[in-house]
Amino acid sequence: MIVAQRKGIEEVKKMVEGKSRILIAGCGTCVAVCMAGGEREVSILASMLRIAVKLDSGRDIEVAEITMERQCDREFIEPFDKQMRGYEVVISTACGIGIQFLAEYLGDIPVVPGVNTKFLGSNEGGGTWFERCRACGECVLGETGGICPITICAKNLLNGPCGGTNKGKCEVDKDKDCAWTLIYRRLEKLGALDNIRKIFPPQNYHAQTHPSRMIHEAYQKEEKK
Ligand code: SF4
Ligand code: SF4
Repeated sequence: MIVAQRKGIEEVKKMVEGKSRILIAGCGTCVAVCMAGGEREVSILASMLRIAVKLDSGRDIEVAEITMERQCDREFIEPFDKQMRGYEVVISTACGIGIQFLAEYLGDIPVVPGVNTKFLGSNEGGGTWFERCRACGECVLGETGGICPITICAKNLLNGPCGGTNKGKCEVDKDKDCAWTLIYRRLEKLGALDNIRKIFPPQNYHAQTHPSRMIHEAYQKEEKK
């Protein structure tokens, strides 16, 4: 999932300074799970904004609220089209993808971020999320026992460990486990320690030029017809 964190009210307030008709658009998927931008957080942010503006300037402002299932998908945005028109500014609490997509969709209405998008990670429970993937486009998890060296290793080493690993900890941050020690131990458990001797070729950075675009093969065939 995409992990995000709510922006502070002062920052949000500054982005919508002077506006009286504001819409907050939440997303019901990843950002809802990480308690940053779902329906509940939209409602909290709307109340905070109304109160903050009233306290600052004595003004009553209109802050409307919507939450769509996915803000990165036109199919889910379109049903809200009419509801979104007529506002001076939209605060999107979706991840950076949803914010950009909504901004492009709305065109002449400014869309500002209500959250900071942090990383792709897993829910570890107890309000903790852990980064797992950097979307490199050439997944090596099959060789590394399901542990991503690009994300977990501080130096993103595809062939590790480096000379600084010490008692299972990373030399860059001693509070963090060395990715390659984790990989070694996992491979040992899997009876696949031979993998540790494999040398990975350098990553193909041409495959990582951004922004990436991918067309599903079924649709490519459609295009060729
Ligand atoms: S190797 Fe790591 S960064 Fe690349 S796709 Fe797999 S999990 Fe993601
Ligand atoms: S100590 Fe391990 S995790 Fe840290 S940079 Fe070296 S190989 Fe990577």
